[in-house]
Amino acid sequence: MNSIIIWITLITMILIPFGPTLENYGITSIGFIDNSRLITEMGYLSSKLSEITGINRFDVIPKVFGDNLTITYTYRDNSIDSYSCWSTLNCYGSISPLDDPNSYGLFIHEFGHRFLDSLGLSYNDLDMELGYYDSDNQYIHVAGINPETNRFERTNSGYPEGGQPYEQHGNLSPNYNTYQEDFADMFMNWVLGQFTDNQAGQLRNKWMTNFITDHIELVIMNNGLETLSEHVFNPNGTPCIKDKLGVYLTRARGMRYIIYYVINI
Ligand SMILES: [Zn+2]
Repeated sequence: MNSIIIWITLITMILIPFGPTLENYGITSIGFIDNSRLITEMGYLSSKLSEITGINRFDVIPKVFGDNLTITYTYRDNSIDSYSCWSTLNCYGSISPLDDPNSYGLFIHEFGHRFLDSLGLSYNDLDMELGYYDSDNQYIHVAGINPETNRFERTNSGYPEGGQPYEQHGNLSPNYNTYQEDFADMFMNWVLGQFTDNQAGQLRNKWMTNFITDHIELVIMNNGLETLSEHVFNPNGTPCIKDKLGVYLTRARGMRYIIYYVINI
């Protein structure tokens, strides 16, 4: 037994200087020349989810999102340089998304979609109504339902600026103004710690921390893995109701989003 521990220690000492691989996070990739950007993004994602769940950062991504996660890029000859990525973790186009520095965070955004898809929630279910009153007592809407119009409205308040890299779904693209895209961008900025240090950013950060904490166990169950009874977090969180799971799974399977489309002219 001791010799096994010594061997594991030695191997770890040898491998650590090279840093983690994508496989260490439970993910494989196909079609990318260099995985370093993917490793960086998955490092941030795993650290944040590890912080919430207490699960080791090298185990947490497959525990939350399931096994057999593969990020794929397929070359597709387009008349203009462009690429698209989907919440299936498949990308295609005439350029790799990793060749675009403005796509930093894109794959975390995709995992944001997967998190929400696993729950199958409508925007009413999200119960998101973020806003505040300024010094003139004017209501400043940030995200979710605007109580003054009673409609879902997204803004870029709380982000350093609009557009990439803080909003990965192009604001001229279809579905920009949907709660799914808003959620995915918010998830990405939450993971990367990119919210602005003001009321809007703080509101988004607090909402996302609470939402992820309250729903992560249900996401884990929906993705077919064991519950986290050994990890005590959010003891008063969302209960796992078996009847609901089937509904969530059916909805999640039906969902496919084109999440990103960039045109370089
Ligand atoms: Zn998206």
